[in-house]
Amino acid sequence: MQVEEKKVVSIHYKLTDDDGNILDSSENAQPLVFIHGIGMLIPGLEKALEGKVKGDKLNVSVKPEDGYGERDEGLTQMVPKTQFDDTETIQIGMQFQVETEQGVLVVTVTKVTDDEVKIDGNHPLAGVNLNFDVSVEEIREATQEELDHGHVHGAGGHDH
Ligand code: ZN
Repeated sequence: MQVEEKKVVSIHYKLTDDDGNILDSSENAQPLVFIHGIGMLIPGLEKALEGKVKGDKLNVSVKPEDGYGERDEGLTQMVPKTQFDDTETIQIGMQFQVETEQGVLVVTVTKVTDDEVKIDGNHPLAGVNLNFDVSVEEIREATQEELDHGHVHGAGGHDH
């Protein structure tokens, strides 16, 4: 069996940036389990996994356009501190949801001044080259129910 659309795939992975900093890893944790081909992973990683079989190991470099997109400075904004309920606790790195005309957006605080806060609606990994070390652990057929729900059931997935 190989990785293709509608297969449930388990992978272990390590994600580093171009400087070798580890951004994310499944090491010492459960493998990442996903349904292939429905956009659960970034496009560059899905493409690289296509056709792979259990036991395969691969190194994948994903450019921003196949990852979390390029940074869009238009998604950053300085807002007055007075808009926040609790200005004492605002710190760089905090994330929260804001309502926009395009729906709910997750923003990250990237700067705090005496009276203003800079918020950034870009994905934290936008504009970053992503280097994945991946090993394919398991491949199985997705059940019809999993396909209907759009997520994995059982180990590494939903329990309901
Ligand atoms: Zn479900």
